Amino acid sequence: MKIVTIVGARPQFIKCAPVSRALRAEHEEILVHTGQHYDANMSEVFFTELAIPAPDYNLGIGSGPQGEQTGRMLAEIEKVLQKEQPDMVLVYGDTNSTLAGALAAVKLHILVAHVEAGLRSFDRSMPEEINRIMADHISDLLFCPTQTAVDNLAAEGITKGVYLTGDVMVDALLYNTGIAEQSSTVLEDLNLELEQDLVKGEYYVATVHRASNTDTEKNLSSIVEAFGEIGLPIVFPAHPRTVKYLKEYGLYDRLPENITLTEPLPYLDMLHLMRHAKMILTDSGGVQKEAYILKVPCVTLRENTEWVETLDDGWNVLVGANRERIVDMARRMVPNAQQQMDLFGKGESAVRICELMQSLSLPGTKITGSSFQQK
Ligand code: UDP
Repeated sequence: MKIVTIVGARPQFIKCAPVSRALRAEHEEILVHTGQHYDANMSEVFFTELAIPAPDYNLGIGSGPQGEQTGRMLAEIEKVLQKEQPDMVLVYGDTNSTLAGALAAVKLHILVAHVEAGLRSFDRSMPEEINRIMADHISDLLFCPTQTAVDNLAAEGITKGVYLTGDVMVDALLYNTGIAEQSSTVLEDLNLELEQDLVKGEYYVATVHRASNTDTEKNLSSIVEAFGEIGLPIVFPAHPRTVKYLKEYGLYDRLPENITLTEPLPYLDMLHLMRHAKMILTDSGGVQKEAYILKVPCVTLRENTEWVETLDDGWNVLVGANRERIVDMARRMVPNAQQQMDLFGKGESAVRICELMQSLSLPGTKITGSSFQQK
């Protein structure tokens, strides 16, 4: 089987690592990097650290307005697909690279497989939500991380080609946590050394990059003020987009003293830092889920989440960009039960996805629209 995989943004590099490893054991994979994320610490470092093979194509699209960026990707991906003639195109998550990859493939009558299908925030003001909906409706194979995702698709009339596979980010996390524990020096580097035998440190980790938080001065100011009020050390690895807006709003040079703003961290450092944190403050999808699996309480700086399971038992709480709510929850949030450890899979999702791709692309398997029928 020949697969063209389309990636372009940080979370997609992390998701593709376990799947590429499993796929390449038996199949040919052509990796296309759209160039959506291009800074070394948002892209290259993940390829090196997670041993992802170098992309066969780097489209170098870079940043840009939504339509322009997606349109340029669409045009370039189409050329690659025409040249490579794959059996299937594999896309991940909810970025413009996901939508462009799926759209280019379906128009060329190439099968589309979507990893992380069926997630919904039910907030159409998020560009990611539009990308998810569109990609799901044109995919042939929909690999869902959770039962909620399967149910979301059913509610939109998508039932054929839908598989509950668990979450490939869990594969990545389980594979790398031990490696991070052995190799990362991030705690020492940031002077956050844990007292002997203490698993949790007295610090928070924060990430902020959703457009609803960064592109609105009121929201970003409110979040930064809340972080200051929390008082304890907060390590804040900042996304390039967040740095841009912190500068634009004049916040960058007057951040509260308890905030340590860093460059985006490599994955192993990020995992290690999160694992030992007292709490996580984030608007990231992936980080909310990682917090849950790492048993770290999470305050989510959004009004909704696609990962609704993390809200059960109080491990995650939604507070939006409201200063009082952020501070209140960061100070007094205590989960009320154990996590359900298998909620997002057991770390075997990538292998399952590859097996499904293989069995469903065998000769004799007829695919019509989004449905698979054995002849
Ligand atoms: N991440 C990282 N370094 C950072 C911030 C995040 O390695 O400085 C990882 C994080 O652990 C998770 C993924 O990036 O695996 C989440 O990506 P992001 O928050 O950019 O995207 P989202 O999940 O919101 O789509």
